[in-house]
Amino acid sequence: MNSGPPYAAIIFDCDSTLSSIEGIDELARQAGLYEQLAPLTAAAMEGRLALEAVYRQRLDAIRPKLESIAALGERYIRHVVPGASETIAALHGGGKQVHIVSGGLRQAVLPLAAYLEIPPQRVHAVDIFFDENGEYLDFDEASPLAQSGGKSVVCRQVQTQQGKVVLIGDGVTDSEVMEAGIDFIGFGGVVKRTAVQHIAPLYIDESNLLPVLDYVLPCPASARA
Ligand SMILES: [Mg+2]
Repeated sequence: MNSGPPYAAIIFDCDSTLSSIEGIDELARQAGLYEQLAPLTAAAMEGRLALEAVYRQRLDAIRPKLESIAALGERYIRHVVPGASETIAALHGGGKQVHIVSGGLRQAVLPLAAYLEIPPQRVHAVDIFFDENGEYLDFDEASPLAQSGGKSVVCRQVQTQQGKVVLIGDGVTDSEVMEAGIDFIGFGGVVKRTAVQHIAPLYIDESNLLPVLDYVLPCPASARA
């Protein structure tokens, strides 16, 4: 199903792909709302609920402060997936653009991107707004990434601007980019989702991201799907 390399840009999901945590679940846990909200996140990840149906519900309940978002950024880095830094350094060395496309909160993803040396303009995620005291105001409801199908919109934009892309991710919201003609590689190193494993043309079933390089860098035909 994938047309295969060469790719101009390699796009990674964030939660459970570059970092082993789910950001919104971490925020919910700190707010004492994990039991209440985690089933919503899981349902969205598995494609049983539309993302837009749960996005506002979760954030309006949690109302994360600026300091919580900064702390989440540090947690993303502490829980970076094995091989992520080496994989991204190798991609940059091979002349590839690396992007992050996430349904998470941009201000929390940016520190992880900086740690992985991915420039902020290649981080596509949902903006969150605070007042002058760092109290939660709202999120960018207009962002395609707060809605089902949003990753397809953003991946197509990058593909139009930069050339062919491939998305690597763990969730159904990632695998659905294939319907938009985007190449997809499933990653089961943090959470193995059966629905994704079944439909992904390529699936990495190891806890390390380095096997990505075998699939996305120009290499012998034997390594291609
Ligand atoms: Mg994910």
